[in-house]
Amino acid sequence: MMHKAGYVNIIGNPNVGKSTLMNAFVGERLSIITSKAQTTRHRILGIVNGDDFQILFSDTPGIIKPAYELQNSMMDFVKSAFEDADVLVYMVEIGEKELKDEAFFKRIIFSKAPVLLLLNKIDKSDQQQLEEQVAMWKEKVPNAEIFPISALENFNVQTVFDRIVELLPESEPYYPKDALTDKPERFFVNEAIREKILVNYDKEIPYAVEIETEEFKEDDAIIRIRAVIMVERETQKGIIIGHKGSAIKKVGIQAREELEKFFGKQIYIELYVKVNKDWRSSERQLRRFGYNQK
Ligand code: GDP
Ligand code: MG
Repeated sequence: MMHKAGYVNIIGNPNVGKSTLMNAFVGERLSIITSKAQTTRHRILGIVNGDDFQILFSDTPGIIKPAYELQNSMMDFVKSAFEDADVLVYMVEIGEKELKDEAFFKRIIFSKAPVLLLLNKIDKSDQQQLEEQVAMWKEKVPNAEIFPISALENFNVQTVFDRIVELLPESEPYYPKDALTDKPERFFVNEAIREKILVNYDKEIPYAVEIETEEFKEDDAIIRIRAVIMVERETQKGIIIGHKGSAIKKVGIQAREELEKFFGKQIYIELYVKVNKDWRSSERQLRRFGYNQK
């Protein structure tokens, strides 16, 4: 039997729905989702296995102009997604004009890999606007096949999936056929906590936070987790903790609920806060947290 396998990499501006789409494809909440830009910081692999195919979806950070070293690393993940794509999924949303970054935009229109342009969030649109947008994108990205979708409402997602399977190259599987991702359990713990930080704090705080899971002990009935929330400055530490610890307690409860769903097990979680001065600008710290690929 012929087997197909390949990398299907999802790229686009921040907040267009890339992570929502990957989770819809995979059927698991692998990538965290919030209404804030830069929720996704890593390249996250989601694997979908069929009898005769294996799709390696990559969710990537939204394309931005990097302002500090962490964002440079995030854009390196995007670049890597251009390099190994067998199918490039370029996601835009209704109302969006074009990718602000011209260099990345050129890589899309000159892509050697087939490009699927997904016009997302059509649940927020009407027929006329939709037709105008499709016509505009046809002109801007003539090499792409265009699919209007709603990742959130699972509209047309299956059509895109079927087309992806058609486009996959012939290849043996890259990962074991029961694999779901390449990331370890601790990564998903870090991300669940970071999602709750994004949801509960304003302004610069979520962007100054990194999580490290120091302990992950699993037995038959329960998983015991200890994680540190790192911030860049002492003042941010106080904000994370909140009055009498009320704010961090809320994060702990919400992260526990999320992780109990994810792992299907009872979770005990202990959080504490530490200052790691200017970690976002330190190459050494970024490497430690898995950002620097170089
Ligand atoms: P990413 O930054 O591209 O990964 O975007 P996310 O997947 O994190 O989604 C950003 C926001 O857009 C979230 O609030 C999602 O719920 C929302 N979103 C994603 N897909 C859709 C969609 O099809 N329709 C609508 N209305 N909202 C969506
Ligand atoms: Mg995302």
